[in-house]
Amino acid sequence: MNPHPFVREDRFFAGGEWLAPASGAHLESIDPSTEEVWATVPDGDATDVGTAVTAARSALDGPWSRLAPTRRGRLLTDLAALVERDAARLGELESRDNGKPLRDTVGEVKRAAEWLRYYGGAADKIQGDVIPFRDQAHAYTRLEPVGVVGAITPWNSPISLYSWKLGPALATGNTVVLKPAESTSVSALALARLVEEAGIPAGVVNVVPGRGATAGDALTAHPGVDKVSFTGSYGTAQRIMRNAANGLKHVSFECGGKSPHLVFADADLDRAVAVATHSAFRSTGQSCSCGSRLLVQRTVYDEVLAALVARTSRIRVGPALDPATHIGPHTSAGQLAKTRAYIQLGLDEGGRVVTGGGRPAGLERGFYIEPTIFEGLGNGSRLAQEEVFGPVLTVIPFDTEDEAVAIANDTTYGLVGGLWTSDIGRAHRVSARMQAGLVSVNTFRPTHWMLPYGGYKQSGLGRENGFDALREYVEVKTVVVDYADEEPTDPFAH
Ligand code: NAD
Repeated sequence: MNPHPFVREDRFFAGGEWLAPASGAHLESIDPSTEEVWATVPDGDATDVGTAVTAARSALDGPWSRLAPTRRGRLLTDLAALVERDAARLGELESRDNGKPLRDTVGEVKRAAEWLRYYGGAADKIQGDVIPFRDQAHAYTRLEPVGVVGAITPWNSPISLYSWKLGPALATGNTVVLKPAESTSVSALALARLVEEAGIPAGVVNVVPGRGATAGDALTAHPGVDKVSFTGSYGTAQRIMRNAANGLKHVSFECGGKSPHLVFADADLDRAVAVATHSAFRSTGQSCSCGSRLLVQRTVYDEVLAALVARTSRIRVGPALDPATHIGPHTSAGQLAKTRAYIQLGLDEGGRVVTGGGRPAGLERGFYIEPTIFEGLGNGSRLAQEEVFGPVLTVIPFDTEDEAVAIANDTTYGLVGGLWTSDIGRAHRVSARMQAGLVSVNTFRPTHWMLPYGGYKQSGLGRENGFDALREYVEVKTVVVDYADEEPTDPFAH
């Protein structure tokens, strides 16, 4: 008996109601571990997006804006408790939908609850300033919600990213229309049910699954949307920015990276190699913050490469629902084809596959590929420059600190950087010189609700997480009240 029955989601969520899509059409979701259709979701279009935006606008203009911030925060923490309660179920939905191992998805759901809880706690600590700019005037700022937020998310970490966007957007009093990725919408609809159960007022959170070119495009072009918060590819971000230009919508983007991970000879090499292996291959390399370029000081290069290969050979690739699995399949046939094409490109560019490159033995169905390590490629190669979004690590030697920094920064991306060293001076020097939104020393890319996260250069615009994320969701209004007791001067009197 199949313990994981077929899921059929017929309706999207808008204005507190479950509605059939105007087109009547549905999208199929494929389980990447088995290549079988395991769920269907509504294929929302511009009409459905319009319904959701109207609902979000009337919730914004209605009771939501009058709710005390403490009460708003309480609703977020109530939602957090429900997400935590359902972590096992939501994690399983996520593993079926995107192929990430259960050990990762259940943990991610629990962390998503922490994100919502953090922003729930922040909701009544968001306040403006009093500005003493002159005598006999009271000047202050009010931090007001931007309005209706269009949130667009990718397929690689769906539930995490819902919490990254919903948390700060709701804490600051906005309303949201969420369009999840077309291949991983099931958990978004499950979350919508928890939004209902938490008692969040109708229209504050709306979820419209659909394709990027239809629902996504309609959402980012809709005149009733005031801000777009997007995670996904650089090309899509550019298209969204063009749509957002019409009406000057606020935007924030997180668009991936080709993150440099530097290992200096004076580092704790055992720890560096363990973390480098994990950071390159976790989530099958389908993470914007993978350490996909490993730069190793030449004096320890051979030692580090041998240790990397040994660790990589111990990674268990397998079905997402197998508790023993370390990394699952690619999320789709398209992503697998893309990774294979990059492996071929690396070979064509003169690189050498040190380990991996093929389909893991014993896994005949599913979008699987072995974790793969390349050497012999310069940083100018396409494999070292482009985001594969697969388990492909490029290892490059360097001689000096200056050279390491130059290679690290020689990329169009700037999301994450990391270095391993026991020299405290170097730790600070190199951190200051790295062009990335998050730099870590002797660890790699710690992700936490309290730590701001976002990219330099083509990796993005704006910040998520921490208190900095709240700035992305508010308008700053300055109010000046003049209470001078003398007669006002009339510049036109003479
Ligand atoms: P994508 O940018 O096409 O999709 C991300 C989201 O944007 C999805 O919800 C999609 O429906 C939506 N979208 C697509 N076209 C749109 C449009 N015209 N208007 C509005 N929304 C639109 O990314 P993808 O095709 O899923 O993945 C392609 C590549 O993007 C990956 O290989 C990877 O390099 C990168 N990526 C990065 C991240 C990240 O976390 N930064 C996540 C996923 C993918």
